[in-house]
Amino acid sequence: MFDNLTERLSGVMKTLRGEARLTESNIQDALREVRMALLEADVALPVIKVFIEQIRQRAIGHEVLDSLSPGQALIGIVHQELIAIMGGEKNELNLNVTPPAVILMAGLQGAGKTTSSGKLAKWLMAQKKKKVMLVSCDIYRPAAIEQLELLARQTGAEFFPSQTDQRPAEICSAAMDYARKHHLDVVIVDTAGRLGIDEAMMQEISELERLLKPVETLFVVDAMQGQDAVNTAKAFADALPLTGVILTKLDGDARGGAALSVRHITGKPIKFAGIAEKLDGLEPFYPERMASRILGMGDVLGLIEDAQRASDQKEAERLMKKMKSGKGFDLNDFAQQFQQMKKMGGMNAMLEKMPHQLTQAAQNMNVDEKIINRSEGIINSMTPQERAKPELLKASRKRRIAAGSGVSVQEINRLLAQFEQTRKMMKMMNKGGMSKMMRAVKG
Ligand code: GDP
Repeated sequence: MFDNLTERLSGVMKTLRGEARLTESNIQDALREVRMALLEADVALPVIKVFIEQIRQRAIGHEVLDSLSPGQALIGIVHQELIAIMGGEKNELNLNVTPPAVILMAGLQGAGKTTSSGKLAKWLMAQKKKKVMLVSCDIYRPAAIEQLELLARQTGAEFFPSQTDQRPAEICSAAMDYARKHHLDVVIVDTAGRLGIDEAMMQEISELERLLKPVETLFVVDAMQGQDAVNTAKAFADALPLTGVILTKLDGDARGGAALSVRHITGKPIKFAGIAEKLDGLEPFYPERMASRILGMGDVLGLIEDAQRASDQKEAERLMKKMKSGKGFDLNDFAQQFQQMKKMGGMNAMLEKMPHQLTQAAQNMNVDEKIINRSEGIINSMTPQERAKPELLKASRKRRIAAGSGVSVQEINRLLAQFEQTRKMMKMMNKGGMSKMMRAVKG
């Protein structure tokens, strides 16, 4: 996700290397780099303009703390402005109405409306303990109704059936009657999309909006469309009283233009991001964490949350403690991490959220699933003492373990080296650039 942008923005620090402080002229050079990075990322021009101007104003006369280089100070400011341009605080879904709360899904065909409806149902059931019903008003594509029905079955949400010979308004009224009668908490209404902005589509969805009075009207948009996504968003925001945006397919978005532009252009917050095709690939959108990810600082909190979802509470707390302190991390934890990795959607999903440098380090270490399984085998062949105290592992013990797990002693050495690397990574995360950079801004 956003690899180029991350690369380019970390390059900005280099332009300031050797400078003692931020001055008007060196800021100018650095801002030129930031601007280029944003242009390449396909960020909308008005957004770039505002963004650069804000940074310039904050950077000039900004006092650089002794412990920071001007590069770090500037990145700190960029971090704050990235957060601001993506909406500042995280925006919660509003469900504070007499149930059933209606969520109306709007957007073009292929944006990910139906998939996101299913994902949102799953999220609301799992995270908010809501009783959710899905209903489709896409009377033009029978396949879309079937797709939603399948998603309802997969998630365990209620499904309100609809047919292609019904009118959307009629379907919605009947669905609402049913939801009230059965005391459901949330009704998610999937609507028909078109390939492009189209008057009839807008009228139809506006009519549904007036009829349903949804507490949330969410515009679903494909992040990979870049500036096109932003233009479509603008058209929908002008025609409908949107309350928020779901940005889908962020996992395939190499550039980041839509993520950075859509809030500013529509004035509506991004509430969720789609990060994978599968049903749990939807996350609340946190501008702060996204900004950290874009700057290659990683989304450590996101990683911990994934771990919490994947494991029981106690285990998650233990892991969090160790990740924070970096102390007492042994081979038992290392083996535990392999289990966690598998539950957290595998290596790739995790690497996305690690700080940029660590991701590269991990890629260099060439960790793939097969190696993970082998490593588990090796650790299983160790005694509890050896797992708790890896320094016990001298040559003769290694030979025994090698024979026990059917690998060579070299492989055991490789595993131990990886373990050391991981332990180091944790220390890095712990002391990491992040807190240092944050101080730049507070100064
Ligand atoms: P709709 O026409 O707006 O209802 O779009 P769909 O929900 O049918 O989605 C279109 C395609 O995008 C499907 O193949 C989905 O699996 C895929 N998709 C939706 N959201 C995401 C996402 O966040 N990540 C990825 N990788 N694929 C997605």
